[in-house]
Amino acid sequence: MTTIDDLPVRDDLRGKTPYGAPQLDVPVRLNTNENSYPVPEDVVDAIGKAVQAELRDLNRYPDRDVIALRTELAAYLGHGLTTANVWAANGSNEVQQQLLQAFGGPGRKALGFGPSYSMHPLLAQGTGTEWIGALRDPDFGLSPEKAVAEIEKHDPDLVFVCSPNNPTGTALDPAVIDAVLSSFTRGMVVVDEAYTEFARPGTPSALTLLPGHPRLVVSRTMSKAFGFAGGRLGYLAADPAVVDAIQLVRLPYHLSAISQAAARAAVVHRSSLLKTVEAIKEQRDRIVTVLRERGVEVADSDANFVLFAVSHDQKAAWQAFLDRGVLIRDVGLAGWLRVTAGTESETTAFLNAAEEILS
Ligand SMILES: *Cc1c(COP(=O)(O)O)cnc(C)c1O
Repeated sequence: MTTIDDLPVRDDLRGKTPYGAPQLDVPVRLNTNENSYPVPEDVVDAIGKAVQAELRDLNRYPDRDVIALRTELAAYLGHGLTTANVWAANGSNEVQQQLLQAFGGPGRKALGFGPSYSMHPLLAQGTGTEWIGALRDPDFGLSPEKAVAEIEKHDPDLVFVCSPNNPTGTALDPAVIDAVLSSFTRGMVVVDEAYTEFARPGTPSALTLLPGHPRLVVSRTMSKAFGFAGGRLGYLAADPAVVDAIQLVRLPYHLSAISQAAARAAVVHRSSLLKTVEAIKEQRDRIVTVLRERGVEVADSDANFVLFAVSHDQKAAWQAFLDRGVLIRDVGLAGWLRVTAGTESETTAFLNAAEEILS
């Protein structure tokens, strides 16, 4: 049997493993921070009509510049942003891959602060960009001094900052990003705000820092708060020059006419889609409160998930949850597991399992 080792794959990919959160068919799936609520019927109808209207023209390539969707996304973001400030692709993973293709690549370095999103180093790897895994503080925070010191030490071409951070859940004070922007004048700063809609009140977005900072990129997604993970739509906000730079690496017609139409209908109907955010935040806060009442160590969360400590081996604990029909996430952080805040009944199922496993 031929294996990957028999093929002439790139030397820098040999021995590497792909992204692989388990996709298991279990009753309660709380492992990839999806929105547990199905798309509401009115939005299903609107997306159906929008997609139907495209079908006759599928003989033609779609709008390469994705103008209509970018315009709707800019309107959603506010902050005076326009179509020229926004770019969209098949998930924010693709947006970030395009950023690495344009600003990273062989001979260049990207730096991030772990524990953080596992896709950042994988996207760097795929684009031949060297990844520098700096660390957050032991309490998962990141001070402006530490962030600036690591960047000065390694002199990267791109810096990735995730806020609210996955898997730890906590948002960064924009002062940290401000400090990074002031001292790091050479490369790009990418703030991954996949979970920003779930942040606790008073947590400003890095969008507020965009004016006057052409090297700042704010990455967003419809996969979480919008409950549109299957639609694959991510986007960024930045100076229009950044959008111009991405044109050099994006595939022509990367976003299908069907994806553009579906996402546009979803953004237009955002008030209906985003209604679930408050319910999810309630369940998130419930998980934090209940686990803390039981004496479990829990990280503060501005996201739709909670990172909590297990006293014994997290792999065994993960399996014990799975044995009870609850799929959560082992993010490879010794002594910790991550659970997505789902519906009320899913959260109850998790908390019941946790009571047996963590006591
Ligand atoms: C889930 C997640 C994303 C979303 O990626 P998509 O490709 O948009 O689905 C991006 N960043 C972080 C940190 C995430 O956790």
